[in-house]
Amino acid sequence: MTLLTRRALLAGTAASAAVHALPAFAAPPHAFKHGDFEVMVVSDGHLVLPTSFLAPEAAPEQRDALLKAAGQAGASYDSPTNITLLKHGNDLILIDMGSGDRFMPTAGKVWDNLKAAGIDKATVTKVIFTHGHPDHLWGTVDEFDEPMLPNAAFYVGATEWDFWHGDNATRGLPAERAGFVTGARRNYAAIKDRVAMIKDGDEVVPGLQIVSTPGHTQGHLSLALKGSEDLIVTGDALTHPAISFAHPEWRTTADHVPDQAVTTRLKLLDRLAADKAKLIGFHLPYPGTGVVERKAGAYRYVAAV
Ligand SMILES: [Zn+2]
Repeated sequence: MTLLTRRALLAGTAASAAVHALPAFAAPPHAFKHGDFEVMVVSDGHLVLPTSFLAPEAAPEQRDALLKAAGQAGASYDSPTNITLLKHGNDLILIDMGSGDRFMPTAGKVWDNLKAAGIDKATVTKVIFTHGHPDHLWGTVDEFDEPMLPNAAFYVGATEWDFWHGDNATRGLPAERAGFVTGARRNYAAIKDRVAMIKDGDEVVPGLQIVSTPGHTQGHLSLALKGSEDLIVTGDALTHPAISFAHPEWRTTADHVPDQAVTTRLKLLDRLAADKAKLIGFHLPYPGTGVVERKAGAYRYVAAV
């Protein structure tokens, strides 16, 4: 996208935002203030995933003990899906769009939950995507493949956009996930005239910086929000409340580039612990807010607002 069209897009967004008064956010634990931002976490429901996804190479007794600690057992487990909504100046910014109505019956609830929280879809001015997996992207369109949000500008990592549109997307994924490629292209197509490409270090609004966290997908992004300490919205760099922290070095089936995902996880956990930063994890127990502590040569997630 040229600078000129990007500027026109941003100007158009500012104009449409001025038409709508931004809604009040709910109270803690689901909403809180951070620096210049008001933050709210809205549930999109949850996914039901095979437990075998989690650390297939780990010793089963070690893995099962951690699952048990997280209240999980059996062949499948529920993975929450937390969507972050930010209020900043005249902007109402969604981080990811949820699953929509074509992925799992237990997910795709974000619009109902936003409505219940008093948020009108038409007031959302910006959407930033962490990556192109179904539970983050497929809520972009409605049942007619039209954009769900009438007034929003969309921000996608350039590397992620290129991955899903390139030949490697179909070659690089297992056959059972071929539908992910079709779905990503369908949702991206609906926003192609309203999308801006982003990369590591970009500031989408003042105090909101993009952090490259590749490995879960090729162009996976997180966000850092400035405050008295940083607030990191991690997307799927940290997906499990026990395993991702106690054994960040375990490779996970859900990661496209597992070794790179391990490197990213270790770097991110070190930053979170060293900076005493807050985090919001998309798949951590709702509302997915907490901090990271060092523990026994690894880390521990401590839920907190
Ligand atoms: Zn996910």
